[in-house]
Amino acid sequence: MSHDVINPATEAVVATVADHSAEETDAAVARATAALDAWRRVAPADRARLLRRFGDVVDAQNEELARLEVANSGHTIANARWEAGNVRDVLTYYAGAVERHIGKQIPVAGGVDVTFYEPIGVVGVIVPWNFPLPIAGWGLAPALAAGNTVVVKPAQLTPLTAMRLGELALDAGLPEGVLEVVTGAGGVVGGRLVDHPDVRKVCFTGSNEVGRSIMEGCAAQVKRVTLELGGKSANVVFADADLERAAASAPYAVFDNAGQDCCARSRLLVQRSAYDRFMEHFERAVKAVRVMDPADDDAEMGPLISAAHRERVAAYLEGARVAFSGSAPTGPGYWMAPTVLETPDRSAPVFTEEVFGPVVSVVAFEDEAEAVAIANEGPFGLSGSIWTRDVGRALRVARAIETGTISINSNSSVRYSTPFGGFKQSGLGRELGPDALRSFSEEKNVFISTEEA
Ligand code: NAP
Ligand code: MG
Repeated sequence: MSHDVINPATEAVVATVADHSAEETDAAVARATAALDAWRRVAPADRARLLRRFGDVVDAQNEELARLEVANSGHTIANARWEAGNVRDVLTYYAGAVERHIGKQIPVAGGVDVTFYEPIGVVGVIVPWNFPLPIAGWGLAPALAAGNTVVVKPAQLTPLTAMRLGELALDAGLPEGVLEVVTGAGGVVGGRLVDHPDVRKVCFTGSNEVGRSIMEGCAAQVKRVTLELGGKSANVVFADADLERAAASAPYAVFDNAGQDCCARSRLLVQRSAYDRFMEHFERAVKAVRVMDPADDDAEMGPLISAAHRERVAAYLEGARVAFSGSAPTGPGYWMAPTVLETPDRSAPVFTEEVFGPVVSVVAFEDEAEAVAIANEGPFGLSGSIWTRDVGRALRVARAIETGTISINSNSSVRYSTPFGGFKQSGLGRELGPDALRSFSEEKNVFISTEEA
């Protein structure tokens, strides 16, 4: 069995990709299991060298990977180059962690006590379609660095760059079986990674609905699990902010990757006393967003991933009050213009659910307490931004908002060297940052008696 992979900007078939069966998934897990013993014994400096070399190979293929991502996922070429660069960076960063994965020596009576970080075993990394390259990298790089072997299951819609990463790993000299990539349906290949007893950890990024079922599935074997799920993040603009800067940057906080970003600030909270001034600047900025052929160097936003996804996003707009919108190409491709909704009903699905498209809801607030209360509504807590010149307020609000990552006077979300993950139902566990290897290790305690016989 196989399926066609479609270019969302043109609707042309880009490739035909195999849908692997549960048995073929088992075979990949068996190869990863067989590779485990040798991989965990590779001397730390050599494992580091192999991962650095993998990073170098990815770097050398940056343009090829980026072009492949544009064709498969409709990401803008500028974003896709960053994404391939992020895989290189994550590999290089965690290559540096292999020799620094240091246990403890703990004072105890009657002997010496030391801890070791042991690999967990085979790790299954289940990747969504919205950021195929980075999300694969955030799982596989620290997992491999900690001495695990990895089976990656890319999304059916966007498997091409993960398949290429699997080949590049071999080119870089990683032994066979250390990194397996298995394409196919979520319920089949992904489901098997959850159920297979030799897969000891699942690293899942995707929807809350599937995430909950993965957690349930993992519970049967008390399998380690990391979940990176949805978001409905707030961009909070106070009246004392640099309004022009906040407004100029706000479109990219939600429309980047056509809004198909778990960190999208899809709720824009603006203090009432500055509301009209902010909205004037914001309208100009939204209308200036360049939605066009993502392969063009000037593109700032491309299409949505599929016809079905565009329909799902459009359904949120039925009956909604559109304040203004940007532009989008017509003709083939799953295009949608950046869309701004004003003063929505805060219980409407468009305000409470993750839309995962180029739609932002703007709401006015009176004061700091109301801003925090609105930001904390709902089940999500992944990302967010605060714009203010008041340092005390910036830090108070940053501490008060229940979210895993928040930026002040910036809409950045992710750095490979800082932790990333969700509060509340946005996830479980953290990825990236200096401690990522710990979540791919079991901590072992060893006591050595020094008592005389
Ligand atoms: P999804 O439907 O949950 O799918 C994610 C991955 O899980 C895909 O590879 C999918 O395979 C697989 N899958 C589906 N059903 C499965 C099952 N029963 N067992 C095992 N695996 C299964 O999510 P999506 O629609 O691709 O992605 C959008 C969602 O991801 C959004 O909600 C977004 O917020 C979230 N997301 C979160 C983060 C974060 O870091 N927090 C980052 C990016 C995206 P197939 O697609 O091949 O069926
Ligand atoms: Mg899905």
